[in-house]
Amino acid sequence: MRGKRRVLTHNRMMPLKFCRPCSRYTLKENCPGCGGATTNPKPPKFAPEDKYADYRRKMKDGERKAGGMV
Ligand SMILES: [Zn+2]
Repeated sequence: MRGKRRVLTHNRMMPLKFCRPCSRYTLKENCPGCGGATTNPKPPKFAPEDKYADYRRKMKDGERKAGGMV
């Protein structure tokens, strides 16, 4: 089965933020641990053509098939 499955795990309503110094995730714009400003773990850039996601998915499929060309 080679259907196009979309994997949207991080693109939700909740804007999950990340604090680098603490290495922790939070929903707040300021880290509850150190009070510093948190950042998005992933850049909020979503290209209309998601080349890289597709590419990575193919690579992952390739790994599952023991790296062989099918
Ligand atoms: Zn912090």
